[in-house]
Amino acid sequence: MNDFTSEPDDLKKAMSVAIKRVIDSGWYVLGDEVKEFETQWSNTCGVKYTIGVGNGMDAIEIILRSLNIGPGDEVITTAMTAFPTVLAIYRAGAVPVIADIDYETALLSISSVKSCVNDKTKAVILVHLYGQVKNVMQWKKFCDDKGLFLIEDCAQSHLASENDMYAGSFGVAGAYSYYPTKNLGAVGDAGSIVTNDNDIAGKAMILRNYGQNKRYYHPEIGLNSRLDEIQAAILIERLRWLKKFTELRKNIASLYNEFINNKYIEKLTPPDDYDSHVYHLYVVRTKKRKQFQEYLNKNNIQNLIHYPVPIHKQLSTSGIKISPEGLGNSELHADYCISLPCHPQMTNSDANRVVDVVNSFKE
Ligand SMILES: *Cc1c(COP(=O)(O)O)cnc(C)c1O
Repeated sequence: MNDFTSEPDDLKKAMSVAIKRVIDSGWYVLGDEVKEFETQWSNTCGVKYTIGVGNGMDAIEIILRSLNIGPGDEVITTAMTAFPTVLAIYRAGAVPVIADIDYETALLSISSVKSCVNDKTKAVILVHLYGQVKNVMQWKKFCDDKGLFLIEDCAQSHLASENDMYAGSFGVAGAYSYYPTKNLGAVGDAGSIVTNDNDIAGKAMILRNYGQNKRYYHPEIGLNSRLDEIQAAILIERLRWLKKFTELRKNIASLYNEFINNKYIEKLTPPDDYDSHVYHLYVVRTKKRKQFQEYLNKNNIQNLIHYPVPIHKQLSTSGIKISPEGLGNSELHADYCISLPCHPQMTNSDANRVVDVVNSFKE
């Protein structure tokens, strides 16, 4: 639902210059551009370390492995997330346990997570779904009390903050994705780990590069998940625009929050404060989703469903451990949710047209 071709010419030119700079440098993987981006992203998030990696899924796997979480260990996360959150748990060799969401926000439910904790539980992966950061202090306290690691999946929450703390700075570590459609995106795959923990940072730097601590010496069984110089150079340029682009998303969302008014269309509970939601996606729910989607398509309003199938209903996850209390809210949300266009290339008049079409939907 993004339109990169209509991005500002200044940005497109700067990206071309950045690519040429890398080509002219003759150094293509893990170099000065990566180091510079890591420094800038640490400053942005208010953390000590950023470790650039290949993508967001690897970032989660590397965090888990840096914490020595693996076979036999259970990791709790939400039924309503992108599949890679759970894939990363499998890839680390650990056992995913799926908890339910709070219906109002579609975010992971603390009481459902409570029902999943046992003496094998090592960590909770909190997903800042759709760009929402909420109740992080409660999550911190909950995890501290139970002796669990709090890991943040920040793939949708660049620049989202609560109490002036940014996504990724609350838990032991946060995983960012810079897939092109994320709020901060590269021109290919890219990701990073953010943390204040020296040990996690040190181990993650080794794991991302074949498990080597110096060239040809391999104290760990690592992966190949390095950030390349072109992607880092692009991210440096795009980071200059991130604040502005985030404001544009919030502006579209605030128009929707204020003016969408249709008894068939349910809005999610808006955030408590302005900083805590960066609207990676603007999601509504309707029991008439099929008809509503047809209506949007007929009126040329782009839309997608995030996500139509909750984690535990995927073909590949049959038998996955779930909360003993069930995942009823996630199942309802998956049946009713639909995402409206919300991106920085939209104008106010584009947004007003979406509002008009949504408001004119009837059975
Ligand atoms: C995109 C996404 C990921 C995975 O990121 P990749 O860079 O595509 O591997 C993980 N979790 C969530 C919530 C995402 O939206």
